[in-house]
Amino acid sequence: MADSSGFRRTRPAAVGDWRERAECARFYAASPVWADRMWTFEDAAGDDPVDPVPRTMARRICESCPVRLECLADATAGGIQYGLFGGFRRNQRRALGNMAESDGVTVYSRSGEDLDARIQAFRDWLRKHPEALKRVESEDHRLKQARRRAQRRRSVPANRASAQTAGDVPALFQ
Ligand code: SF4
Repeated sequence: MADSSGFRRTRPAAVGDWRERAECARFYAASPVWADRMWTFEDAAGDDPVDPVPRTMARRICESCPVRLECLADATAGGIQYGLFGGFRRNQRRALGNMAESDGVTVYSRSGEDLDARIQAFRDWLRKHPEALKRVESEDHRLKQARRRAQRRRSVPANRASAQTAGDVPALFQ
């Protein structure tokens, strides 16, 4: 949910906060409904929404947003569940957070570690590891392709079955 500045805040921001430079804020200010279709909606599995066009547009905007890493670190360490942040959806953010954790960075709170410190540490890690963003993006692309192929394979027997039924029709009249 966007606040009066347009950005989907989870916490109040100080003056000069990075959220004031969020690219998506302009879209939320202009049309919250349209911006929600771009950045917020996703299905129960955390996958992209049914309409992929607004989501693709949002991804492109995130890629060139000046506060992309701040946004991504804030949403990941802050445990935001839904929507696109930094161009990444929930499962992708979790994958990035896990990569940083396995590199010794505390991203998630286990015993009340300071949120700002975790956000900052994760953002610094992201800055040093641009290849991690690329890796998660390309893995996501690969999974989507595999899922599409599996869906196509599943639909083949159904098509064959209906073709067979159609082929059986003349036999009924012999
Ligand atoms: S990276 Fe995307 S979601 Fe985050 S502030 Fe920028 S435009 Fe908004």
